[in-house]
Amino acid sequence: MGKYTGSMCRLCRAEGKKLFLKGKRCLSDRCAVEKKNYPPGQKGARMSFRKSHYKFQLREKQKVKRFYGVGEKQFRNVFASAVRRKGITGENLLRTLEMRLDNVVYRLNFAYSRNHARQMIRHGFFSVNGRKVDIPSYIVALDDVIAFREKRRVSENVKAMLEDVKGLVEVPGWLILDGANLSAKVNAMPTRDDVSLKEIEERLIVELYSK
Ligand code: SF4
Repeated sequence: MGKYTGSMCRLCRAEGKKLFLKGKRCLSDRCAVEKKNYPPGQKGARMSFRKSHYKFQLREKQKVKRFYGVGEKQFRNVFASAVRRKGITGENLLRTLEMRLDNVVYRLNFAYSRNHARQMIRHGFFSVNGRKVDIPSYIVALDDVIAFREKRRVSENVKAMLEDVKGLVEVPGWLILDGANLSAKVNAMPTRDDVSLKEIEERLIVELYSK
């Protein structure tokens, strides 16, 4: 499946839920879900969100995929690794997605959104344990140190962005931020409560993939 290049807000409206895909706009009263909380399209306002159980399962999966910006193939791979690990599969899935480097960069307030974080990672803005990592799907591990690379943070544009993005999201407890050095350490593995996407029924996704 090709990369989605349409409106991000449309994705949120299709799910009937804020997926926080557009940085600061998501926190303002310009958010499309706040203004038009019905599905997009000409018939959207007349459509209801009532669905069959299968559609609930499907929509729950789509919400998670869209929230983290993950394609179907990658999502299936993460799911397969979640099945193989000990513990509850649905929780493993969400916790792994939470540990993606693009999510970590966003949650450290080093980017406006996960999408923005992905762009910066691909352009070599970050290192893990002192080595450049330009793969947004990289999964961080306990004790890893994620840092804004020195040569990337000197530009005035980046400094202004960092100032603007400061405090946009709350840094989770499993990451210890060193604001002065623009780095952070993975202090613990995220728990289910640490997962940024709230009110998600991951068991529906497990059911969907277990058919
Ligand atoms: Fe979704 Fe953000 Fe657009 Fe609101 S502003 S609809 S949360 S992407």
